[in-house]
Amino acid sequence: MIASVDLIPLQDLKRQHRVLAKSVRGVFERVTESGWFILGNEVAQLELEFARYIGAKEAVAVANGTDALELALRALGVGRGDSVVLVANAGFYGSASVMAVGGNSIFVDVDPKRLTLDPEMLVRALREPAKAIIVTHLYGQMAEMPKILSIAQTRGVPVVEDCAQAHGASINGKCAGTWGALGCFSFYPTKNLGALGDAGMVVSSDVHLSERVRMLRQYGWKNKYEIRVAGGRNSRMDELQAAILRMKLPHLPEWNSRRRVVAEQYNKAFATLDITLPEIEGDSYVAHLYVVRTTKRAHLKDRLEKDGIQTQIHYPIPDYRQPIFGSHPNKNTCLKVTEDACSQVLSLPCFPELESEEVSRVISSVHKAFLKN
Ligand SMILES: *Cc1c(COP(=O)(O)O)cnc(C)c1O
Repeated sequence: MIASVDLIPLQDLKRQHRVLAKSVRGVFERVTESGWFILGNEVAQLELEFARYIGAKEAVAVANGTDALELALRALGVGRGDSVVLVANAGFYGSASVMAVGGNSIFVDVDPKRLTLDPEMLVRALREPAKAIIVTHLYGQMAEMPKILSIAQTRGVPVVEDCAQAHGASINGKCAGTWGALGCFSFYPTKNLGALGDAGMVVSSDVHLSERVRMLRQYGWKNKYEIRVAGGRNSRMDELQAAILRMKLPHLPEWNSRRRVVAEQYNKAFATLDITLPEIEGDSYVAHLYVVRTTKRAHLKDRLEKDGIQTQIHYPIPDYRQPIFGSHPNKNTCLKVTEDACSQVLSLPCFPELESEEVSRVISSVHKAFLKN
């Protein structure tokens, strides 16, 4: 009998919470004893602390990352029939928010290096009128914000940043979320900063916009029972989630750098192999996911699985090819880099608590896959 080898998971949230168990219990006690469970002091404090961490004037806590995107679009006045420019390789989150407001998705291709919005394609797309641009910082890698922003500003189109995979990433010391008009975050448990359930945040340094999001997240209320803005709903954050996030926020820089160490080890070990590796430049990558690209994806995935290593494909289907579109014109879109990426990307285990023996096992399994070809 061969001794069974432990599975190396893509993520393991138990490891983080084992370390934080005592703090989590403390948080539960504090919140339950307060007798206040939604939009209270914990949420208000988290908003201040998160805004300070990101370097934005304002932060507005919401129920999840998809709501954050949708409310950001609504705050900008994006509505029925309005065009929104965005990429198609980022898991449909941006598209879902555009559909929610009744907008029109204009899909543009990504740049082959980062797999984020290609500035040159943006220039082309903006020959037609657009009401907003959603920029997704994918896998923890920030898009080329200085270029994108100058293009957007020249044409007067506001940018919404999707930072759900990029908490704390920065270019020239300026964090993801502070480049555009609004920055949207998710605290889904597997994100770089995760709650014990759903939660999200919209940051902005435009007080008018952040006030609109603040009203939209609670029925459109300006004051209690006084509705000042249409399109409002309930998208509030729980006190428990806020308190958990406050407890975890100080750990984020250390977790991000641990993720980057893993990614750097992989990059070094795979440098000689015939696969495309993520670029790791400056602080613009916080290694939310470690994603390689190969035309032999099925083979690599299979090898890793046989060696007890979990992988995932983020994301297999371009947004415009999703079945919901049926024969909708979106189906006729074909973006070269996006198509290639969807057929070649594979995510390997990369999280702060990954042990160095596990990193070594992943490395030797990947090597094995490419030696046997
Ligand atoms: C997770 C994620 C979202 C959605 O966040 P939820 O909190 O799950 O609604 C949006 N965009 C990106 C890029 C994400 O990874």
